[in-house]
Amino acid sequence: MPLILSMPDQASHPHTIICKSCGNSFHGNYCNECGEKVLKPSDRSFKTFLSNILIAITFADSKLIKTLWLVLSKPGFISKEFAEGRRVNYLKPISLFFVLNLVYFFFPLIQLFNATLHTQLLSPFGQFYKVIVAHKAVELGLTVDSFKLIYDQKTTGFAKLMVMVFVLVASLPLNLFYWKRNRLFTDHVGYMVELACFNLFVNALLLSVLAFLGLGHYLSENVLSAIFITTNLYFLIGSGYSFYGERNWMLVVKSALMIFSLGLALEIYRAILFFVTIWSL
Ligand SMILES: [Zn+2]
Repeated sequence: MPLILSMPDQASHPHTIICKSCGNSFHGNYCNECGEKVLKPSDRSFKTFLSNILIAITFADSKLIKTLWLVLSKPGFISKEFAEGRRVNYLKPISLFFVLNLVYFFFPLIQLFNATLHTQLLSPFGQFYKVIVAHKAVELGLTVDSFKLIYDQKTTGFAKLMVMVFVLVASLPLNLFYWKRNRLFTDHVGYMVELACFNLFVNALLLSVLAFLGLGHYLSENVLSAIFITTNLYFLIGSGYSFYGERNWMLVVKSALMIFSLGLALEIYRAILFFVTIWSL
């Protein structure tokens, strides 16, 4: 194209590259239209091939580790970076969410986003659920024990897909608490994805590993509740300060209110999960 010949900086970027994905002409290592990377001979070497396999198997991608570390050490920082348009140095929180979700649901020992029939029957609606379960078990001609087995297997499959329901429900009160803070609906949802990542890693995965290592008997309902509340307060206060710019006693009050709404969102999510599982049987 004649346009390229007349470009003044042609001498400093001598190679005009035609993008192999979209056909755009550009200079540099990445297409400025579609973002396709220019492959160099080293990208196709056996060493790069092996390290790509290692990354795929272990998820040990440096962006993933860095993003996860920031979620844990500086709550709200990643949400702020994404809301303000500084994104390329991090893994998208939604991608981190799906990776952690996948790993957690390999062995969902801790009852957080997964909820077995036993857990559901301990909820405030437990008595009501028992009646529904009894009817359903009779209808299917199953004993309570075999019903439980089938239910637990089904519900884990649904829970994996439905954690986003929790994220959406839990983000709604933020529109109310932080409506003056110049954040949009999608910013609140993005922030809640970060909070879900935090919980998937700390309160689902790490605690599942502890339970798997035989420390499960220390993790009673009360101990778990105390851990959930403390860790979420840490996240809410840190991120309320950095993401929403809230300060002083209002920060503490709003974080406490958010703890309450997170508990409520979890109950609503579990109730939806219960009925979806029952209807599917
Ligand atoms: Zn392109």
